[in-house]
Amino acid sequence: MHTHYSDGDLSPSDVVQLAHRAGLSLVAITDHDHTGGIEEARKAGVQVGVEVVSGVELSTTLDGREIHILGLLFDHTHRGLTEYLEYLRSERLKRAERIVERLNRLQVPLTMEEVLAQAGTAAVGRPHIATVLVNRGFVGSYQQAFARYLRNGGPAWEGKHGITPLETARLISSAGGVSFVAHPGDTLDEPILDRLITEGVDGIEVVHPSHSPERVTRFKTLAQTRRLPRCGGSDFHGGGRNDSGAVGKYFVSLHDVETIRSYRSNSRG
Ligand code: AMP
Ligand code: ZN
Repeated sequence: MHTHYSDGDLSPSDVVQLAHRAGLSLVAITDHDHTGGIEEARKAGVQVGVEVVSGVELSTTLDGREIHILGLLFDHTHRGLTEYLEYLRSERLKRAERIVERLNRLQVPLTMEEVLAQAGTAAVGRPHIATVLVNRGFVGSYQQAFARYLRNGGPAWEGKHGITPLETARLISSAGGVSFVAHPGDTLDEPILDRLITEGVDGIEVVHPSHSPERVTRFKTLAQTRRLPRCGGSDFHGGGRNDSGAVGKYFVSLHDVETIRSYRSNSRG
């Protein structure tokens, strides 16, 4: 689940409250390039009896293709990881500046100050820029901000720099966690998924709002056959905008969580 430490609309506490009301007993906070929401979510979780585990979602590149990798159950205070996340966030800042420059050249006079005010403590990204474009009346809707300017390959788009899925998996592993190919259903064909697994990403995100029931079954079978840990969830961003995942509707079992835990202890030796 995402919080306002990345492109979610809600605070970590609010997200945990929602999870509690939806009857979930465990959630992972998985902000983009940020682990800042985990502590607050944990404290909120203790209050209501929801276990909160560490998570993060990282954007990686393989042969020019963007692939999201999820890290779960790592030590979120691990020095190497936190330093790397800080680096990624500073790269995001520079990228946002380049996007704003592009927009200015396209006669859209928004400022970096407005974008930063919108992002607050979050890892700054296109969703914040899109929101400013809407609020300032430069576009009619959030979707239009992407369609007209920010979509991949669009006139104001800037790519992110390319850490590979494998480097990311190693980083997560060095912090004691388990890595997963995030929501592979909408973007990845099976040979690439296979390659990612063979090269060292630990598991697959099986359950996701973008996965049809057939895909879920296929990924479950794949995980089972290859003895890979599996995860899943709502990819919740707060309920508005680009949110298709209702809290409590998309989940895996606590048994799956145990499998991830034992996979982690085994791979640590
Ligand atoms: P960034 O990490 O800055 O590249 O922003 C990626 C986020 O932008 C995604 O997680 C989506 O929430 C959003 N996004 C990307 N492409 C689109 C699109 N075509 N329409 C709406 N939202 C999008
Ligand atoms: Zn993602």
